[in-house]
Amino acid sequence: MTRRLLLPLALLALPLTACGDDGTSGDGGVSVVTSIYPVQFVVERVAGEHATVTNLTSPGQEAHDLELGIEQTAELTDADLVVHGSGFQPAVDEAAEQNAEGTVVDAMELLETQGIALPDGAPTEVAPDDPHFWLDPNAMALLARAVQDELSRLDPDHATDYGTNADALVDDLAALDEETSAALADCERRTVVVSHDAFGYLGRRYDLELAPIAGLSPDAEPSPAHLAELQELIEEEGITTVFSETLASPKMAETLADDLGLATAVLDPVEGLTEDTEDEDYLSLMRRNVEALQEANGCR
Ligand SMILES: [Zn+2]
Repeated sequence: MTRRLLLPLALLALPLTACGDDGTSGDGGVSVVTSIYPVQFVVERVAGEHATVTNLTSPGQEAHDLELGIEQTAELTDADLVVHGSGFQPAVDEAAEQNAEGTVVDAMELLETQGIALPDGAPTEVAPDDPHFWLDPNAMALLARAVQDELSRLDPDHATDYGTNADALVDDLAALDEETSAALADCERRTVVVSHDAFGYLGRRYDLELAPIAGLSPDAEPSPAHLAELQELIEEEGITTVFSETLASPKMAETLADDLGLATAVLDPVEGLTEDTEDEDYLSLMRRNVEALQEANGCR
């Protein structure tokens, strides 16, 4: 019954919203292509209803390995705005440089040129070439402001909305940052053993020492010498937990934990959503991570 009543109303609304002689599909006027989930999250929050957002990495897909199909390259080429973080997905970097006809926002370039305030005593650099910027909520806030600026320039009629949306997102990110600092302030241990080297930005922000099994990419396998070093570190520091992650195989973490009689838990690098996390978002996944870290590291 309700459905029958609603349908004519929806049809009536169509001519009002489908006003595009700007050549974009959907009712959001600005077309945006994003590389990975955390970037998509920022753009969708800031754009609200005013943009059509296409994310290149599908849920459940290992994000580092992304290759672009012809259709995806065409979408990127035609988009008004492309938002990504360079050094993470070579195929996207290449297409953004060679094909994109619209504006390109690169989160890594923002970090390099504008930077973010760091806590006292934090190293100014993370591991060279670490592309996992989104694990610091402050870097996400920097990206949110850049996306706000570009959307407002492309679509000045909705600049007020973009400003309001970005303010709300920046507030949410600041709240997450404060909660995380407080939750991880007082811990028995500050070393965290993780699957791949994704958490450098998190460690720098919240004073954690990351000990990754694999390299910056999940498929960079560890050497026996590296595993022996890890084992020594684990024993010295009294580490209780080896973290695996959501999109890469838990095999390495499980093997190491089994060998040493440790627990395993999940620390999500938030490189993408999966079937298990499809109802979560960036903020809730980061909060889950904080809980897992508190538990593993004896934080009060
Ligand atoms: Zn990664």
